[in-house]
Amino acid sequence: MTLPVSVLPPAKAAPKIAPKISFVSLGCPKALVDSERILTHLRAEGYELARRHDGADVVIVNTCGFLDSAKAESLSAIGEAMAENGRVIVTGCMGAQPDEIREKYPNLLAVTGPQAYESVVAAVHEAVPPAHDPFLDLVPPQGVKLTPRHYAYLKISEGCNNRCTFCIIPSLRGDLVSRPAGDVLREAEKLVKAGVKELLVVSQDTSAYGVDIRYATSPWRDREVRAKFYDLSAELGELGAWVRMHYVYPYPHVDEVIPLMAEGKILPYLDMPLQHASPSVLKRMRRPGNQEKQLERIRRWREICPDLAIRSTFIVGFPGETEAEFEELLTWIGQAKLERVGCFEYEPVGGAVANGLGDLVPPEVKAERKRRFMEAQQGVSIRLQKARVGKRLPVIIDEANGTVAKGRSKYDAPEIDGNVHVTSRRPLRVGDIVTVKIERADAYDLYGSAV
Ligand code: SF4
Repeated sequence: MTLPVSVLPPAKAAPKIAPKISFVSLGCPKALVDSERILTHLRAEGYELARRHDGADVVIVNTCGFLDSAKAESLSAIGEAMAENGRVIVTGCMGAQPDEIREKYPNLLAVTGPQAYESVVAAVHEAVPPAHDPFLDLVPPQGVKLTPRHYAYLKISEGCNNRCTFCIIPSLRGDLVSRPAGDVLREAEKLVKAGVKELLVVSQDTSAYGVDIRYATSPWRDREVRAKFYDLSAELGELGAWVRMHYVYPYPHVDEVIPLMAEGKILPYLDMPLQHASPSVLKRMRRPGNQEKQLERIRRWREICPDLAIRSTFIVGFPGETEAEFEELLTWIGQAKLERVGCFEYEPVGGAVANGLGDLVPPEVKAERKRRFMEAQQGVSIRLQKARVGKRLPVIIDEANGTVAKGRSKYDAPEIDGNVHVTSRRPLRVGDIVTVKIERADAYDLYGSAV
């Protein structure tokens, strides 16, 4: 959804030196990709990035509006930018509700909605015109990235066709719009050529990729590639980088992708937010995928790819969740043996259908259920982690300080999963992929030496 850019104060005269933008990026990896696109565009026009708000000509705040706590964080980031600079443009998910923002900060330069790249750029032009210096137009081929150079998020679609009752993302970001496979692959190839070693595929619903465009083919190298989860995964797997899949739901056709993991074409990793395991709660949540047969499906995947690592998130205290439904979830989590699990207490999101679906679970019950859930999962995690001791695993280095480094195995995504702490005889560099002998494990991290 693109909202009109509001009336702006008079534009500044074109500056002689490169105008500076200070940028705040909040929210999920998908929002981060939006930020990268806006910054890439602005850098191509000669804008520079400022380290601090007070040294910038204008501040852009890319907001998250998913939960009330995220909204509060966004409003506070806007407040900080207003206090330190005063010339502020707001974009992102929360920009879809401009009244709420303007009520608090009436003097913003502009408020634009999610994916409204042109509106943000137009607002920046209005506030501080670009400097037309051809030398400043030089942008690195991979664009401007907010992630470290060795890994990058690859967004394959926008929006979502599902209508989970606790979520307002479809009303903020609209229905699914998939990018042509050829475009995604060209971007991925550019990133790999620029030194990216790990591609993190993101969207709201990765396994639904291409449904909206009927899996249309598009040209890539000497062939046509279908916009389909399997076809895209297979082609990405040929680029020579680690490929990690996020936001995959357990649709039957996900089965086809598991052999690619077993063959080492893409990482044996699935980020699959399941949210619950009780069929009645899942029904009230209106979750996609055949939820009744989740355990059976996971068991078959592991038969094909024994070292598949699954990460998931769950919500406890969903409206009307009974003790019996919660216990179904506890039993399920003990049986599924997922590698990585996050647990959130249900938080009512303004405008979400779920708020009217049953009695709200009291805060102390939600907290108690979260504690019991995490305790149950911790036992599972420790056992799975200990089973890695003695193994030799490839590890990608994220931080290095001479012969001591921190990295991740193929079972761990950046920012959300665990780390591997590495000692080495030779100095290591960020982005190196080294073999590490695992010597010790705790519930989250592994420890070992490079061989
Ligand atoms: S799949 Fe459900 S939770 Fe995820 S974005 Fe779509 S509606 Fe929201």
